[in-house]
Amino acid sequence: MSAPEIPENEKQRIAALHSIDALFTPAEERFDRITRLAARSLGTPFALVSLVTDKCQWYKSAQGLDGTENSREISFCGHAILADETFVVENASHDPRFSDNPLVTGEPNIRFYAGLPLHTVDGSRVGTLCVIDRNPRKFTAEQFQILRDLAAIAEAELQRGQLSETQRDLIHERDELKRKAAIDGLTRLWNRAAITELLDAELARAKRGIPLCVAMVDADFFKKVNDTYGHPSGDLVLVEIAARMRRAVRDYDAVGRYGGEEFVAVLSNCDLEVARIICERIRAFVANEPIATRSGPISATVSIGLAAFDAGNVDLAQIVAAADAALYRAKNNGRNRVEMEAPRDGNNRQ
Ligand code: GH3
Ligand code: MG
Ligand code: MG
Repeated sequence: MSAPEIPENEKQRIAALHSIDALFTPAEERFDRITRLAARSLGTPFALVSLVTDKCQWYKSAQGLDGTENSREISFCGHAILADETFVVENASHDPRFSDNPLVTGEPNIRFYAGLPLHTVDGSRVGTLCVIDRNPRKFTAEQFQILRDLAAIAEAELQRGQLSETQRDLIHERDELKRKAAIDGLTRLWNRAAITELLDAELARAKRGIPLCVAMVDADFFKKVNDTYGHPSGDLVLVEIAARMRRAVRDYDAVGRYGGEEFVAVLSNCDLEVARIICERIRAFVANEPIATRSGPISATVSIGLAAFDAGNVDLAQIVAAADAALYRAKNNGRNRVEMEAPRDGNNRQ
C-alpha cells in the first residue's frame, strides 16, 4: 500500500483549510444535497465531501458511509488532493497502491474511486468531492462531467461559508476536540450544550435589536415508534428528522438536538411571522413523506412550539419556557402542528 504523499505547500494548505472554519462542524444541508445528487446521478452507494487535515480525512458530508473520518494514510482522498485532475481508481484490488489497503480488503470494500480536489480561494486543495463503489467501474465522459460540475458547486459552497455569525464564532473559538464535542453523534446537529451557548449569544444580539425566534420541536408519540419498530429504527427516524429540519430552515440557521427526541431551531434575523412559515416547513417536511428504515417506511410527525425574543422573554430560561409552553399546547391541540406563544396580559407584542 502507498500512503499519499504530502503536498509541497502542506503548511499553506493546512492554514487555508483552517481559515474556512468548516472542519469538525455540524452537517449542513447545502453539502448533503450535493453528495446525495452525486451518489444518485452516478449510481454509487457512497459519495463524500471530505476535508483532508494533517492526520485524517474528515467527512463534511457523507452518503452511505458510517463514521466521520479515516486516517489520511489509508485515504484515497489524500491522493486526490495531489493534483487538479480527477483522481480515478477503476479497480482498487488490481492497483498496487491500494490492493492491500484496509478500506479495500475490508469495509467498505472500495473498488472504484473517482474524486476531484476542492480548492480554497488561494488555490489550496483542502478536500474532495468523491464517489465510491464496491464494484469496479469505468465512468463515461458524461459521468466525469457530472462529477466535475458537482465538485465546482461543492467548492463554491466551501468558499462561501454560510453559517450565522454566532455559529462561526463558536467554531472559530474552539480547537479540534472541543468542536467535535459540540456535535451530536447521532444526528450531527449541534448538541444541547452548544445550541444553548448559541442561543445565549443570539439573545445578546437580540438585545441590540436583531429579531430572534426559538422553536422547540418534539417528535410525536416517539415511544410508540420505538416500541413498534425497535430502537435502531427509532434512531434512523431521529437522523432523518434532523436532516429534514436542516433542509427546512435557512442555510444560516442553527439547529440542535436538545434532548432524546427533542430538537431546537434558533432563528435569528427573523420575526414571528417568518419563523412560523419556517416551522410550518419543518412540520410538513417531516409529515409529508414516510421515513425509509430497515423496518420499512415509518410515518413520523413533530409538534412545534415557537417563541420570540421580546419584553417578556429576555433571557434563556424565559424564551425556552415560552417555546416549551407553546409546544405543550401543540401537543394538547392534536400534535403535528405549530403553535406560537400566546400574547400575555392582553399585550399584543407582534
Ligand atoms: P409525545 O408526543 O407526547 O412527545 O410522546 P412521546 O412518546 O414522543 O414522548 P415521551 O417523552 O413519552 O417519550 C419519548 C421517547 O423517545 C422515549 C424514549 O425512549 C425515546 N427516545 C429518546 N431518545 C432516543 C434516542 O436517542 N433514540 C431512540 N430510538 N429513542 C429515543
Ligand atoms: Mg415526543
Ligand atoms: Mg420529548
